[in-house]
Amino acid sequence: MKRDKLYLGGRWAEPDSDATIPVENPATEEVIAHVPAGTAVDVDRAVAEARAAFPGWAATPRAERGAVLGKLHAALAGRADEIARTVGLELGAPLKIAKAVQAGLPLTVLQGYADLAATPAPEETIGHSRVEHEPVGVVGAITPWNYPLHQVVAKVAAALAAGCTVVLKPSELTPLTAYLLVEAADEAGLPGGVLNLVTGTGAEVGAALAGHPEVDMVSFTGSTATGRAVAHAAADRIARVALELGGKSANVILAGADLPKAVKVGVANAFLNSGQTCTALTRMLVDRSFYDEAVELAAAAAGTYQTGDPFDPATRLGPLVSAAQRERVLGFIDRAGARLAYQGGDLPEKGYFVPATVFADVDPDSELAQEEIFGPVLSIIPVDGEDHAVEIANHSRYGLAGAVWGPPDRALAVARRLRTGAVDVNGAAFNPVAPFGGYKQSGVGRELGAYGLAEFQQTKAIQL
Ligand code: NDP
Repeated sequence: MKRDKLYLGGRWAEPDSDATIPVENPATEEVIAHVPAGTAVDVDRAVAEARAAFPGWAATPRAERGAVLGKLHAALAGRADEIARTVGLELGAPLKIAKAVQAGLPLTVLQGYADLAATPAPEETIGHSRVEHEPVGVVGAITPWNYPLHQVVAKVAAALAAGCTVVLKPSELTPLTAYLLVEAADEAGLPGGVLNLVTGTGAEVGAALAGHPEVDMVSFTGSTATGRAVAHAAADRIARVALELGGKSANVILAGADLPKAVKVGVANAFLNSGQTCTALTRMLVDRSFYDEAVELAAAAAGTYQTGDPFDPATRLGPLVSAAQRERVLGFIDRAGARLAYQGGDLPEKGYFVPATVFADVDPDSELAQEEIFGPVLSIIPVDGEDHAVEIANHSRYGLAGAVWGPPDRALAVARRLRTGAVDVNGAAFNPVAPFGGYKQSGVGRELGAYGLAEFQQTKAIQL
């Protein structure tokens, strides 16, 4: 796979340096491609292109921007199979999930932004002031590897719909899907400079982008530690920052819940994408009155997760993205200090696989219950009644997501008490146009739908 160029000002461009980054297939440990190791010089070039393109794109009528996004959607949809296969290769996502989530979700999100841009913004007045919303400017988008296309589209589509121009730095572990998006943008006739791609490391390209004086806003998804560094870099010039960071979300199962369903859906959520999901419900909080039964059900559910080749249709758990992530997760498992309720076996010899693992009787203060593990590891914690469940659920420095199961009124009341950006009641599905983001150290700002678009706008009052 040849990916030796950057995309700057609407053209495939030679990188500043000959250095490259190998991209590995985590299921086989084989190098499948090399991408340019971009430099701070490349970031300068990309930001200059984005800056030059900004006035024209910002002045393009919203409906026209929507039409271009519609063309981008069509071009990307034509690559849906290739996207799923590429995410299968660079991330190790099982093909079924890769098709439905890794390719399907960003297409839905992109279509949503095409529609939103095409819809006229309502006129707003407050007294004698007209309130208008204008694009923030040049956006630096820094994205992680766990949902390589979704994380990119959630930023790029919203920014472009708002009238911003973008410099994208995808994760060095999964940059290949980003090339498919840029190829689609090129085919769709996105004006030059509106979307630019600089591959490279976080330390070089990411840091240069976050600290660039001509970048008006940095939109970042990844770890809380790196998000903090990005926010510090942007603070020096008071640039706007949107951060989608980690999570340690609770799945609260109250008395009166449909226990088998709550456990089954909870395990599926915790293990989705091999547990490499920021909203993963990694803490299962179960009322003590049916705790033992819940642990048995969770162990049995975990036992149905076949680990192996992502391209085998029977596989439900692929590898983790890298050797470093596997070592990190195995470290958490080794140090767990809780009762092992289930652990899978029979892992392939090659590849960065971690067995499906369920711990019971987890201490709510322990590392296992407090740190974002990002692997197929579920912690079950007993609780005594609703107040205790809420207390333990909120006992986290994170506040991204959550779930509550129980009689609808009780479950809704508990959902309102959780200090998180989203809560699913009784298995309600993810909503790709609802606001998405975190409380506490899970982030700042919201993505998706109209709230996601607003994140890329300035608000102006014109007194008349
Ligand atoms: P990072 O947060 O380091 O990576 C996310 C993005 O930031 C990548 O594009 C990365 O580049 C870039 N980056 C790294 N350092 C800098 C920097 N100094 N300035 C600007 N950008 C930078 O995640 P990791 O890959 O290190 O994963 C570690 C842990 O983070 C995971 O185990 C998980 O707990 C959490 N995580 C959470 C995610 C979420 O969705 N909430 C997503 C990914 C990780 P590069 O790829 O080159 O390193």
